[in-house]
Amino acid sequence: MILTDNNQTNCQETNTVNFAVIGAGISGLTFANKISALGYTVAVFEKARGTGGRLSSKRVKNSNQQTMAFDLGCTSFSGKSVEFKAQLDYWHQVGVLAPWLVDKQGNSHYVASSRNSSLTRYLSQDLDCYFSTQITEIRMNNGVWELLYVDHNDGSESRIYADNVVFATPSAQALALLPRQLEMKARLTDVTNEPQWVLALEVSNPDLNIDDMSFPDSELIHSISIESNKPTREHPRQSKILQIQTTAQWSSEYIDRDKQTVEGFIIKELELITQQSLIITNHYLHRWLYSTVSCGIELDNPYLWNKCGIGLIGDYFDSKHFGIEASWHSAIALVNHLSDIGDTQTAVRAHEYD
Ligand SMILES: Cc1cc2nc3c(=O)[nH]c(=O)nc-3n(C[C@H](O)[C@H](O)[C@H](O)COP(=O)(O)OP(=O)(O)OC[C@H]3O[C@@H](n4cnc5c(N)ncnc54)[C@H](O)[C@@H]3O)c2cc1C
Repeated sequence: MILTDNNQTNCQETNTVNFAVIGAGISGLTFANKISALGYTVAVFEKARGTGGRLSSKRVKNSNQQTMAFDLGCTSFSGKSVEFKAQLDYWHQVGVLAPWLVDKQGNSHYVASSRNSSLTRYLSQDLDCYFSTQITEIRMNNGVWELLYVDHNDGSESRIYADNVVFATPSAQALALLPRQLEMKARLTDVTNEPQWVLALEVSNPDLNIDDMSFPDSELIHSISIESNKPTREHPRQSKILQIQTTAQWSSEYIDRDKQTVEGFIIKELELITQQSLIITNHYLHRWLYSTVSCGIELDNPYLWNKCGIGLIGDYFDSKHFGIEASWHSAIALVNHLSDIGDTQTAVRAHEYD
């Protein structure tokens, strides 16, 4: 069977799980929770030190040991579909999310309390998650998937076995790992992501007049959000923490430039927009190679599943939705598909793969 029953794994190894999930972002953790609720054993592997992926948050100290906390990726999220709106409502009711603002199109935007990565931390709490654990190779071994990984804590290498593997990463990272025989790889080659620079700044100008979220008319700066004005965020000082995202086009042109140069350009542009000379007390610049999806895959269902026990989910499938919502829908849709086919599938994995 492809979906091995929880009590009957088909491998002699004691450490075989039914599902290995690669990536502890919103899609991987949503999938892991839902499939685990159906009774399957799951292990989540994440190369970073914590959950979040592109929904991660960061704390950095300046030379005065003052901490600046901000969301490093996605600043806020909203829902279009009835299902995702209901999910946002639920997370709000249980205190994981707080409403932030309503945009010009009338969409309600939420942030997680007290930082955006709290949402993925909440989703990970009942799961077996292995952090600082990067999957480096996947291969079929005696009818089960063998996943080789490196533990970034000590550099050691090891392996685990899984009946099924679900990639919940940007498409380029899945493409690099997928076994070469799989024809689903061809589907991924057309997907493109925008790169993006994100700059966090703590500024102490007393009369800085910027909206909580703004999209200036600029070729360089796509958006500015005031992190310290988000609900549930503690900020003990009078200063403001800004998160600035660069535009797709400028990012593409400058993605390989050195950080000092990039930061200098962004600050200069921000000073032009705000018409102020900024008093900066803390700063942090991050480069996202795969920020948001510019060209995804058009399919009837927002995931890819191969009977050999390999699945792909993420924000690059669901063209009707964007970002967090697309990732969530993709994860839910794959669980629904697997739950529908359940144990009715026959044992074809090795045949299909050969
Ligand atoms: C700057 C920025 C702004 C954004 N703004 C918005 C917005 O306003 N609204 C919105 O809805 N969305 C926004 N997004 C997009 C949104 O954050 C993503 O669509 C969403 O977080 C993707 O979630 P995911 O779980 O599918 O993938 P990811 O969050 O990318 O998670 C994939 C995880 O896989 C891990 N991984 C990769 N390879 C391996 C490996 N070999 N082994 C182990 N782990 C691995 C990665 O470390 C990562 O944690 C933004 C993103 C960025 C970067």
